[in-house]
Amino acid sequence: MKTTVGIVGAGPAGLTLALLLRAREIDSVVLERRDRSYVEERVRAGLLEQNTVDLMRELGVAARLDQEGLPHDGVYLRWQGQTLHIPMTELTGRTITIYGQQQVVRDLIDACGERGIEVRFEVEDVAVHGLDSDSPHITFAGEGGEERLDCELIAGCDGFHGVCRPAIPAGVLTEYEYEYPFGWLGILAEAAPTTDELIYAWHEHGFSLYSMRSPEISRLYLQVPADEDIADWPDERIWEELQARLGVDGWRVGEGRIFDKGVTPMRSFVCEPMQFGRLFLAGDAAHIVPPTGAKGLNLAVNDVRLLAAAMGAHFADGDDSLLERYSADALRRVWRAQDFSNFMTQLLHRLDDGEPFGARLQLARLEQLKRSEAARRNLAENYVGLPAAPDF
Ligand SMILES: Cc1cc2nc3c(=O)[nH]c(=O)nc-3n(C[C@H](O)[C@H](O)[C@H](O)COP(=O)(O)OP(=O)(O)OC[C@H]3O[C@@H](n4cnc5c(N)ncnc54)[C@H](O)[C@@H]3O)c2cc1C
Repeated sequence: MKTTVGIVGAGPAGLTLALLLRAREIDSVVLERRDRSYVEERVRAGLLEQNTVDLMRELGVAARLDQEGLPHDGVYLRWQGQTLHIPMTELTGRTITIYGQQQVVRDLIDACGERGIEVRFEVEDVAVHGLDSDSPHITFAGEGGEERLDCELIAGCDGFHGVCRPAIPAGVLTEYEYEYPFGWLGILAEAAPTTDELIYAWHEHGFSLYSMRSPEISRLYLQVPADEDIADWPDERIWEELQARLGVDGWRVGEGRIFDKGVTPMRSFVCEPMQFGRLFLAGDAAHIVPPTGAKGLNLAVNDVRLLAAAMGAHFADGDDSLLERYSADALRRVWRAQDFSNFMTQLLHRLDDGEPFGARLQLARLEQLKRSEAARRNLAENYVGLPAAPDF
């Protein structure tokens, strides 16, 4: 097989890239290890920045998002029985939209099908070769046995545990990593949310987040130790703890049947540069943020926005200046998001370092958010996402 850009991974990064390239009349083939229904049902992110929604609209894949997405104008912070509303839209003129990642992925896969983009699911043993040569190619085991895809450029959009980043020779990448000693226990429940916007709660027992996927489905999280066994959390214990951390006098979290639960560890990771020869990394393949800032999916989409423009200039005019700058341009937003995600994590999670000092600092920061519009505006700007630019 032959194509112009070989894309590894059919997550938000890979699929969006394929559609952006098609809009520039550049062919690509997407290779995905999992089957279609697995990819379409994988429960993960749920909060889209305005930039992400704008891009989906530009691509013509936002019909369902515009119908079913829940636009939010702000979020609540809650601690010690008090609630502070951060009016994001009033402070920044921009909004956030609640729409599940699995719905985004489904819409993108449908659009790829309609536009004749080949997405090959259930391919095994994917390997990338000739990255710094004139003949980069990808090998994999498909239905017809061992296959080879020749391409001019390769996009590694295969997530944190993919094969593209490890294929870069030792010594090329600098990796920055921080593992948090806690994780998030997340549930999906058939319960109408009893809040109109997300609630981020600081509590002596640990952080909790109240979010939703639709007017009928709640998505809730509890901070737990990173190695927590989900078997230790029967449903009654989860609801009890959510009520303790999120509840206030006269108001409770809406309860219902839990139909999905799991523990996700939290880490920060960045590799630099996001390129080697003709391989370009995008999304979780190059960086991971803790979910507290809701940035992972949005960063993945931003990477491929920059990458598609750079590949477009390369193929249309032979102009490689944007490709050469791709990594530096993408990393500027990645590090901004790392800092913000770390800030939100350190502000709201129980630090468990045995020292009460950290908790007192957290309360002082929350108090500052209550008193200072500048502090609220700073949080809001970062949360809704700074506007997209050609170099950011
Ligand atoms: C619990 C949780 C909550 C989150 N909440 C948010 C949020 O609110 N907002 C937000 O913006 N982000 C959030 N994120 C992060 C977000 O889900 C990721 O950042 C996003 O999925 C990154 O997209 P991606 O396309 O780069 O990678 P992925 O979605 O991981 O896609 C990579 C794809 O590559 C495939 N693949 C892997 N290896 C191979 C291989 N060898 N060969 C072929 N294919 C391969 C995988 O199967 C996958 O389909 C959350 C994540 C979690 C876990």
